[in-house]
Amino acid sequence: MRIGQGLDVHPFSDDTSRPLLLGGVAIPGGPGLEGHSDADVVLHALVDALAGAAGLGDIGTLFGAEDPVHVGAASSVFLDGVLGQVAARGWAVANVDCTIVAERPRIGPHREAIAASVARLLDVPADRVNVKATTTDGLGFTGRGQGIACLAVALLLPASAA
Ligand code: MG
Repeated sequence: MRIGQGLDVHPFSDDTSRPLLLGGVAIPGGPGLEGHSDADVVLHALVDALAGAAGLGDIGTLFGAEDPVHVGAASSVFLDGVLGQVAARGWAVANVDCTIVAERPRIGPHREAIAASVARLLDVPADRVNVKATTTDGLGFTGRGQGIACLAVALLLPASAA
């Protein structure tokens, strides 16, 4: 088996038209996150966890984070891309676990929807995905409400065993 971790951070955007996307779910009320792509901090952390587990580098080396082709890109494109490479190397997702660090908005009411969306995007049963949320009790950039961080781990098994 193989394990990988991922971490991503995005600041909140001043552009009120940007949606807040977490794990592919549009969270009503936002505020949206700033970023080159759609700034889905959950999917970016997951891509890095999967890339790490499979020894594929990171989201930047795989997809060229600053590549103009990715302006406004749906982060599910990055996830599909890394999943394809994971599968090509004979691995399948055993489980993933994500921790969203945010003082605002409240993630709890959306936690299950985010987990279901991630399971759908990974094409795995719902019980292979866990999503947690925490604040930092007012400390640091997340505590000051300046942005959102997400940590993720992914475990891979040989496709024949998963
Ligand atoms: Mg990112």
